[in-house]
Amino acid sequence: MTDITLDQNRDLLLVVDLQNDFCSGGALEVPEGERVVPVINRLIPAFANVGATQDWHPVGHSSFASQHEGKAPFETTEMPYGTQVLWPDHCVQGSRGAAFHDDFQLDACQFIVRKGFRKTIDSYSAFYENDGETTTGLSGYLRERGITRLFMTGLALDFCVFYSALDGRREGFEVVLINDATAAIDLNGSREAALWQMEDKGVVMTESTNILRTVAPEVQGA
Ligand SMILES: [Zn+2]
Repeated sequence: MTDITLDQNRDLLLVVDLQNDFCSGGALEVPEGERVVPVINRLIPAFANVGATQDWHPVGHSSFASQHEGKAPFETTEMPYGTQVLWPDHCVQGSRGAAFHDDFQLDACQFIVRKGFRKTIDSYSAFYENDGETTTGLSGYLRERGITRLFMTGLALDFCVFYSALDGRREGFEVVLINDATAAIDLNGSREAALWQMEDKGVVMTESTNILRTVAPEVQGA
């Protein structure tokens, strides 16, 4: 695979939902989710622009199966905005599960976009909530900063990373997925489907080594 040379004026490393509840032992664990933490930490010094998203639900959020009688986690229900997967209670505001993984270099993040804080609507994407209309404001923020290319990392590949990547394309950004800096829930083949759809929408797939190789050794970290 070819190396990708960074342009510090326009590139952003976006770290999606690197939170305890999505790591091993968490309420909605992505298998071995925490293995992406050191990969992301190695990438951070290579970027001048770094930001993160944080799933941030109120108690009793409508995406929780516990709020729907007779429903179990990972079943679906119909919401006014379409079909919604129901999840175990997770990333409740202020909880340990909603906090970022302890080893993640959070101090390097210049901004955090919180999402899913409206009780009646879920939000996978960093750009739009699940109705596809309610915006988080991220596009405008990135445009004002001159960012035009997004490097996607974090959890989970087949949900929040996937929808963020597609919406990034829809908003006119170039999008690169750093494969080894993501991990999937893989619900009913969702991992393969997500990869296929991202590629179809022009998301470039790469590995962290293809980026780190191009930066100075002192930036490459441990
Ligand atoms: Zn959530």
